[in-house]
Amino acid sequence: MLEGEGQSHGHHAGEIELKKLGHLLLSYLPGLGGRIKPPRYLEVEERPMRGVETCTLCGATVNMGELSVRNLDNELQIELPYIAVHALVTHGDRGFHGTLRGDGQIDVDLLKDVLNYEEYRIGRLMTALLAHTSLLPEHLTIEEHMMRGVVPCGECGDHVNMGYFVVTNTHNERSMQVPYLALHGLVEHKDANYASHELGDSVDAGADEVIDGRLDMELLRSILGQSRAHAEFGQRLASYLEGLGGSEPTPRHLDVVEHVQRGLETCAVCGESINMGTFELRNRHTGHEMVLPYVAVHSLAAHGDAYFRGSLHRGWVDVPLLNRLVKRTWPIVQRVRRTRR
Ligand SMILES: [Zn+2]
Ligand SMILES: [Zn+2]
Ligand SMILES: [Zn+2]
Repeated sequence: MLEGEGQSHGHHAGEIELKKLGHLLLSYLPGLGGRIKPPRYLEVEERPMRGVETCTLCGATVNMGELSVRNLDNELQIELPYIAVHALVTHGDRGFHGTLRGDGQIDVDLLKDVLNYEEYRIGRLMTALLAHTSLLPEHLTIEEHMMRGVVPCGECGDHVNMGYFVVTNTHNERSMQVPYLALHGLVEHKDANYASHELGDSVDAGADEVIDGRLDMELLRSILGQSRAHAEFGQRLASYLEGLGGSEPTPRHLDVVEHVQRGLETCAVCGESINMGTFELRNRHTGHEMVLPYVAVHSLAAHGDAYFRGSLHRGWVDVPLLNRLVKRTWPIVQRVRRTRR
């Protein structure tokens, strides 16, 4: 199969994330040197076999066996040969190529759901926001409420401040209170559930300093400005943009004017280099237009994030408005917002 330029770029954009996903999986596999005990909701089974298979891309040999990972919370399960883990970790590729198994594809979305990758990603994002509150995107505020005292994590025993923080999205006016223990659970255990005791254990009704609950990930995502819908939309948009390697024809009602520049800017989230230019998007039927830097679409496509942070451009894409601009062929009532530089 020949890959178009747009696809190969999209593929490149995914590489870093696929490698991270591969390393997360590998960390749970003692057979491959992993040293992390799988969290409470994961059942990991390795089935190594006597014999190796060779990666036809790089010549590395891996055990010819396979593994199975099951998420007890969402009942999802994935089976993969070891060569697939090699493809993710070494090549950042969802396709694997082995002398025994031939060519195959990893269901990356399923693997992400099995490993609670979204929880992990959001936990990391919030940790970064707490560490650099001066870099908060304009749509977010964070109020910290540290307390005198710590609680133990029921999963690993680590002690975490018993306080919480409140994160608020000033665009959609949604707000959420997040205990530090919950953030610890997201980052360390990829788990939206958190408890200062072992989950499933009964707790004395009168006991103080007991914290437990489950974070509403949907709410949190909407507060932070990230969603899967953003990613799909961003990928579609990127496919129209030559500056991002896209080669798809644009829909008839859209004019795209690209201002590709000689120079790159760096995405602060993943480190990828993106053309520092901008593009204009105009709806022929309504005359409405929007100017956005390429890094904004990269951020949507690669991170599902309406908030973009490049070394040159920073801002927030009004996704609902952009969506209407791209989709609809009848007048848009709302004003067109230019993203500030
Ligand atoms: Zn290889
Ligand atoms: Zn823990
Ligand atoms: Zn990025």
